[in-house]
Amino acid sequence: MRFKFKIIFYWLKILALPRFDSREKIERHQAKQLKKFARNVLTKSAYYKLFIKNGELDLTDLPMISKSEFMSSFNEINTQGILLEEALHVAIEAENSRDFKSEINGITVGLSTGTSGKRAVFLASEDERAIWVALVMSRVIKPKIFKRQKIAFFLRSNSNLYSSVESSLFEFKYFDIFKPMSELLQELNEYQPDILASQPSILTDIAEAQKKQIVHIQPIQIISFAEVLHESDKTELKKIFDSKLSEVYQCTEGFLGVSCAYGTMHLNEDFIHFDKEWIDDELFYPIITDFSRHSQPVVKYKLNDILQIKKEACLCGSKFMALEKIIGRDDDVLIFSGKKIYPDLISRRIALQTNSFNKYSITQVGPMELQIGIECDPAIYDSLIKVFQNVLVTLFEEFEISGVHYDFQNKVDYTTGSKLRKIKRFNYGN
Ligand SMILES: [Zn+2]
Repeated sequence: MRFKFKIIFYWLKILALPRFDSREKIERHQAKQLKKFARNVLTKSAYYKLFIKNGELDLTDLPMISKSEFMSSFNEINTQGILLEEALHVAIEAENSRDFKSEINGITVGLSTGTSGKRAVFLASEDERAIWVALVMSRVIKPKIFKRQKIAFFLRSNSNLYSSVESSLFEFKYFDIFKPMSELLQELNEYQPDILASQPSILTDIAEAQKKQIVHIQPIQIISFAEVLHESDKTELKKIFDSKLSEVYQCTEGFLGVSCAYGTMHLNEDFIHFDKEWIDDELFYPIITDFSRHSQPVVKYKLNDILQIKKEACLCGSKFMALEKIIGRDDDVLIFSGKKIYPDLISRRIALQTNSFNKYSITQVGPMELQIGIECDPAIYDSLIKVFQNVLVTLFEEFEISGVHYDFQNKVDYTTGSKLRKIKRFNYGN
């Protein structure tokens, strides 16, 4: 019960936040939050307390870190005196036994592999979990006072962080995506959710099943998270389900943003300060400092996501930083002779030419080697090869890239539970 009160407490606190109707207000709020964060949280971190001088913290003095330093300095960064070895042990044990009580002294321990496959351990206290739930409630799922909403949540593993969204306002069912899809679809059909939340590759599978009348569900809202939602998938989902579609930009490092009624992704700048490492005048890597984290501070943490800034103001009126697009993870980018090709560019070009495939994947397996899997009706496979090849050849010509080898197959290698990315690059030695 205490946990529910905490959620309500933080939810009211979020509702009571001032209206951020100008950039100045957001910046002033962040400066105030940073001071509080330094005083209340960073003083407890062996790693960060050295940077606080006379109770003041200058963000510019702090080192920028990425996942590998975040892990190698785990013991010094976290404020709970938890050792990496102990946390890893608890997290792996929980994952293996699928007994999801992975806690150390009331702190939830979560394991993430991310797209790189490298392990990282994340800590979350009860308060942090309550803040997360309150944020999701206020930004993504609007509670309906007189109707309990049923949420179907498709996840790789049931972390305690997510299963906490349960109250008189919500009913929550977790679908383990390690299970066979046919079983999940049956369960989903029985459950009849009001809200469907999943990664896009699963959402499109569910949409496909709905189209084939294997499932019959009428969710009022669809929430996409964990992977980039491609424009073509968005159109397809909207066509099949007549539901509100919300895109959540969430990773293990934090709840970073959510799309507005106009479909624009806005970053949660009232909780997270975003610095930008510019790639060109539109694209950047976000560097985040999350004021809502206490047990394991996330400070000047560089993500390997590539974001494209939206230059015009969004029509919804929000002053929070707006994105044109989440381009993808760094390891989604194809690199030929040192030239980068962003996955979004390829998927958009393909979407303009054809929609007759079920799904496809493009994987760079060598410096000049592409493996292309197209799942489609065998009768049109040969013609699709031509379409894909034309798109790629034309695109590469524009980038003055030549000598790429294509290897086609009539299937998409798909391991259930893995994050399916349409376009990816294997680390083949770089
Ligand atoms: Zn907007």
